[in-house]
Amino acid sequence: MIPLFKVAMSPAAMGRIADVFSSGMMVHGPTVGAFEEALRRVVGNPHLAAVNNGTSALHLAMRLAADPGPGAEPRPAGRDEVLATPLTFEAANFAVLANGLRLRWVDVDPGTFTIDLDDLARKISPATAAISLVHWAGYPVDLDRLSRILDDAEAAHGHRPLVVEDCAHAWGTTLRGRRLGNHGNVCIFSFHALKHLTCGTGGMITLPDQRMHERVQLLRWLGIDRRADRINASYDVPEWGYNFQLNDIAAAMGLANLEIVDENLRRHRANAAYYDEELAGVTGLELTDRAPGHDSSFWLYPLKVRDRDAFMRKMTEAGIAVTRFVRRNDWHSAVREFRVPLPGLDGVYDQMVYIPVGWWLTEEDRAYVAKTIRAGW
Ligand SMILES: *Cc1c(COP(=O)(O)O)cnc(C)c1O
Repeated sequence: MIPLFKVAMSPAAMGRIADVFSSGMMVHGPTVGAFEEALRRVVGNPHLAAVNNGTSALHLAMRLAADPGPGAEPRPAGRDEVLATPLTFEAANFAVLANGLRLRWVDVDPGTFTIDLDDLARKISPATAAISLVHWAGYPVDLDRLSRILDDAEAAHGHRPLVVEDCAHAWGTTLRGRRLGNHGNVCIFSFHALKHLTCGTGGMITLPDQRMHERVQLLRWLGIDRRADRINASYDVPEWGYNFQLNDIAAAMGLANLEIVDENLRRHRANAAYYDEELAGVTGLELTDRAPGHDSSFWLYPLKVRDRDAFMRKMTEAGIAVTRFVRRNDWHSAVREFRVPLPGLDGVYDQMVYIPVGWWLTEEDRAYVAKTIRAGW
């Protein structure tokens, strides 16, 4: 079977893990610090914090939206909506609920499978506490256009909602040449085993400013300042936090895998470019849109196909793993109260499917995938 996912673990990871073992520092020790420093250099944003998984990073991000923190103006009553799409990993939407906020679904653009910015612009109101978007499959949302929509909303309502970008699929994605994590928003990344960059499990949050960065560093560990004098118990916790720290073994994997991730990313993109050529014009199949300056990480390769179930059967029989990947979240019972018609997603949901595109595909593999699809289903 040609797989959809594979763990990208550098052979150097084992040696770095052995160094952690012999150091005796396992949790938030120097290896986590070194990993964060390396991430700052690569991402280009000094305000970032490593955490134990991407879901934790989402919970921190939504905490910032729900609760402005000690000493800040409280969130006005009734400003409790997060505009979000149901086409994402459940973690993003459940972090909204965990913080006492409500979901207001925004439609999905059937061309890109990402948030429909026209529908978003219609739904922003004084009740909007935050906007939660995902660079789905690695394809970037047009953050420049979003910023103009927010300028208009701010002029109209006197309030600019916090934007949370889920970059879990989008390690290395750039928009008009600028890497994600640098657009003035709160961003989260996942270093789960199957993501481009992996720590086994791990994650990171990037922040737009020093104040949010300092706050997140406290919230990540129960609200306790790590520099406090705990020997004499002379410390105060200004606001309660979580236990979301990364451990040093995970950070050692992350450091090792930073050395291989660029080459892997290059191969995802090369395979995607190959499919773009080979699959264009195939009957019963449509590629997703590609806009200039939108440089996807192609963590997944999305397709729209007619008779999707037959397509999936044919591919599976041919030894090629394919997936629908997620169920649209608005159909889950847990969030049934938020359901609204979403014509864009309704129209394309039955055609969505993903095929293998990763660094592990040989030239023969990808040629076989393209040939199998071109033969029809
Ligand atoms: C992987 C993923 C996350 C985070 O997952 P963790 O396993 O908690 O690291 C968040 N959002 C999306 C879209 C993901 O694919």
